[in-house]
Amino acid sequence: MYWEKDVETMDRGRLEAFQLSKFKEVVKSANKSTYYNKLFLDIGLGEDTIDSLDIIKNIPLTTKDDLREHWPYGLLAVSKDELVRMHASSGTTGRATVVFHTARDVESWADVLARSIFMAGMRKGDVFQNMMSYGLFTGGLGFHYAAEKVGAMVIPAGAGNSKRQIQLMRDFETTVIHIIPSYALHLSRVFEDLKVDPRKDTKLRMAFIGAEPHSEKMRKKIEEIYGIKAFNSYGLSEMNGPGVSFECPYQNGMHIWEDHYFVEIIDPKTMKPVSEGEEGELVLTTLKREGMPILRYRTKDLTRIIPGPCACGRTHRRIDRIKGRTDDMMIVKGVNIFPIQIEKKLMEIPGVGTNFVIILEREGYDDTMIVKVEVQNEFFAGDVKQRESLGKRIVDELRADILVTPKVELVGPGSLPSTEGKALRVIDNRRE
Ligand code: AMP
Ligand code: ZN
Repeated sequence: MYWEKDVETMDRGRLEAFQLSKFKEVVKSANKSTYYNKLFLDIGLGEDTIDSLDIIKNIPLTTKDDLREHWPYGLLAVSKDELVRMHASSGTTGRATVVFHTARDVESWADVLARSIFMAGMRKGDVFQNMMSYGLFTGGLGFHYAAEKVGAMVIPAGAGNSKRQIQLMRDFETTVIHIIPSYALHLSRVFEDLKVDPRKDTKLRMAFIGAEPHSEKMRKKIEEIYGIKAFNSYGLSEMNGPGVSFECPYQNGMHIWEDHYFVEIIDPKTMKPVSEGEEGELVLTTLKREGMPILRYRTKDLTRIIPGPCACGRTHRRIDRIKGRTDDMMIVKGVNIFPIQIEKKLMEIPGVGTNFVIILEREGYDDTMIVKVEVQNEFFAGDVKQRESLGKRIVDELRADILVTPKVELVGPGSLPSTEGKALRVIDNRRE
C-alpha cells in the first residue's frame, strides 16, 4: 500500500525535525549560488543561525522573475559538471525558466513521483502510456522514469496524434495513462469518431491528470467516459515537476510531500501566512535538491491546506485542487501563456492598432483562444486581401511564440472596450 511506509506515515514531530535538518543543509548548499549568497548576506542568514523552521519566514520570496533575472546559472549551487539534466517550464519559446538537476536530483525526483503513482495504485505489470510531451517539459521524462521505477511497462507516446494513441492503447493493452484533462476530453471524441468505446474496448483502469486547472466535475466526466479512476497530479518545473503533490485513493485533496518540500500558504497581498485551512498562495522550498535549491518559491497557485488527517494514514498534509492563480498566466491545452507574450508579438506587427483582448472558450471539449485585435484603419477599411494576409501573419507569429494556434479576429480602431485602469486582457469563458 505504501512505497516508503516509514516516510509516508512519519509522525509530525519527526517529520518537522527532519525538515529542520534538511533546511539547514539547503541553506548551506544554496549559499554556494551567487543569487542566494547575496540574499543570505543581506539578511544575515547562515546555517548556524538556524534553530527553528520559523526562520524560513525571514527569507525573501523567490519569484519567476528572479529566476529570469539570474538566468541561466545564478541559482546553481554545484559546478556545472555535476549536472546531468535540465528542464524548463512549459509554454514559452522565449527565455523559459530553467531548472538544473544533478544525478541525485533526477533520482530523488523519480523516487518521490514513484511514491505518488504507487500511492494512487499503479503497480509492476501495469502498461503505462505517457501522453505528455517529452522534451523540456517535465511531464514526459518525469513520469517516464517514475513509472519505470515502479516497474510498469512504459509506452513513451508523447503528446498528440490521437488516433495513434488509441491504437497503442488497444494494441498493447494500456492500463494507466498520464494525460492533460482537456486532452482527455478531446480524445474521447476521437474514440467516438472511431466507434471505439474506451470502457469496453480498452483495458484502461486509471489516469493521472494534471498540468492544468480542472474542476471536480471535469474529473468525474473523465472517470465516467473512460470507466476509470482519475487522480489529480500537481507540480511545477521549478519544484522539479510532477510529484510535488498527488491524490491518494481517497481522492480528497493531494498529499504534498513534506520531506521534499517545505510548504507555506501566504496571503498574496500581505505576504503573511494564512491560518490553517484558509485559501492563499502556495509557497514552496526544495528540501532535497542539490543542483538548484530554491527557497520560498512563489508558485502563484491558489489553494489551501485541507485540515485534519487523511483516512489513508499518510501524515503529509493535503492541498485542495488549484483554484486559480495570483498572476495573469493562462493555461491553454496545458501550455502556460502570459498575455504579455501576445502583446509583445502583436506590437511588433505593422498594421496592428493599440488594443486587443483574449477570449478563452471551451467548444465541446476543446479549448480555443480567440484574439480580437484592433488594426489600423487603412488595414481595416482597405483591401480585403491585405486584411486577410495581416490576419494570417498574426496567427502564424502568435503560434510560433505561444505554441497554441489562436483564432484571430481583426476589428476596427477603437472598437474594443478600453478601460482607464488596468486593461482587461483576458476573458475566460471556460468555466463550467
Ligand atoms: P510548468 O512549470 O510548466 O510545469 O507549469 C506549472 C503550473 O501548471 C503550475 O504552477 C500550475 O499553475 C499548473 N498546474 C500543474 N498541475 C496542475 C494541477 N493538477 N491542477 C492545476 N494546475 C496545475
Ligand atoms: Zn490520503
